[in-house]
Amino acid sequence: MRVLFAAAEIYPYAKTGGLGDIAAALPKALANYCSITSVMPLYSFVAIEGQLKHTFFLSLGSERYEIKIYSQEGTYFVYEPTLCDVKRPYGYANDWLRFAIFCKAVAKLAQILQVDLLHLNDWHTALGAYYYEGKKILTIHNLAYQGIFPASIMEKIDLDPALFDMEHFEFWGKVNYLKGGIALSEAVTTVSPTYAEEIQTAEFGCGLDGFLRRYASKLRGILNGIDYSVWNPATDGALFVNFDRSSYERRIENKERLLHTQKPLFVFIGRLVEQKGIHLLLALLERFAAMPLELFIVGEGDAKYAKALQQAHFTNIHTFIGYDERLSRRLYAACDFLLMPSLFEPCGLNQMIAARYGGVPIVNPVGGLRDTVHQNRECAWGLCMSEPTADDLLATIEQALLLPRDLMGHFNMGCDFSIERSARDYFALYQEIVWI
Ligand code: ADP
Repeated sequence: MRVLFAAAEIYPYAKTGGLGDIAAALPKALANYCSITSVMPLYSFVAIEGQLKHTFFLSLGSERYEIKIYSQEGTYFVYEPTLCDVKRPYGYANDWLRFAIFCKAVAKLAQILQVDLLHLNDWHTALGAYYYEGKKILTIHNLAYQGIFPASIMEKIDLDPALFDMEHFEFWGKVNYLKGGIALSEAVTTVSPTYAEEIQTAEFGCGLDGFLRRYASKLRGILNGIDYSVWNPATDGALFVNFDRSSYERRIENKERLLHTQKPLFVFIGRLVEQKGIHLLLALLERFAAMPLELFIVGEGDAKYAKALQQAHFTNIHTFIGYDERLSRRLYAACDFLLMPSLFEPCGLNQMIAARYGGVPIVNPVGGLRDTVHQNRECAWGLCMSEPTADDLLATIEQALLLPRDLMGHFNMGCDFSIERSARDYFALYQEIVWI
């Protein structure tokens, strides 16, 4: 079976969050089962030494674009200046056009490669379900981002007006890329079983819950995992001291070398957006300052949260505003507790990485967090909040301080959150779509 896997970010070339991790790990694990290649945009900040494989023109509306396809180590890269000459993958006014170009190029590449299946990821690739006529599967990594644009773009992306209806792309008078992709794909997956249920409710459905309920029979939740060779405390070059489960006692040196402390260390790593519950942490900073703990917050995102963090000057609270892969790895290895008070969380990878590195997650049990962290010891041994409020987070942290964190962290290193499990489930689904 031949599969093309399309994503807007693939680690290590580009990564803004979990999508980048998964788009690297999943195809690599699926390569044990099928012939799979990935494709992403060749953003100008991505350096490759790949070869030029194909050049072709494609038209969208009245414009014509020259597409160059490069390849390196099993990944294809689409180059076109409008799509690629940027400083970050998304967040531009013409994203509707940039990703329409990408999707049309991906559809053409799928045709050239004669694949049996096109695997699309999130709204950036969802138009591929419209441009490509073969079989496709769409994975929703975060329903909060749907790619919604004014109806006036329709002609410019060659969208058939007949599909501008409630059953396809139309969403409150606008064009919704993800919605159309859901309608036109043979199967739709999301990244945890609980999130697959949640997005069919008004609370978590981001306006698409009714639409998703209609397509419930083709919607499936497959839990994400992490690449155990990329996330391995025994070999991770970023760490001060490498360790594995049998040398767990060495782990503490990572905290001592990073912060020169033995106090319990609580860590938050993630996008500074409301989804991640960063506002709950901000509301508690003064309380934390008076507690026997260290707190380290790493992230980038909304300016108001970044500013509030920059203004917090307490000796036991450390912040880094920005994206720093090395620091994040050091913190996974150093933390006693990893905080994820998310309001919603499709899957979440941080809690799995923290467990792999011997830390203990403290989570609001929604989405994938409910599927991976338990009060008892079935999965990662962690603590679950009762409700997403600052008071409850504080109470959970106070409770955590009384628990045997080393015992819990040592247990967590034995959990299996590897992407291999996810790959088996995805391949079973691929078989259903392609062969049945
Ligand atoms: P998201 O909703 O952002 O995709 P996930 O939990 O699925 O969240 O994945 C987050 C990934 O991004 C993890 O690998 C995490 O370590 C990484 N990450 C997030 N923010 C930062 C940052 N500021 N610096 C380094 N790594 C980060």
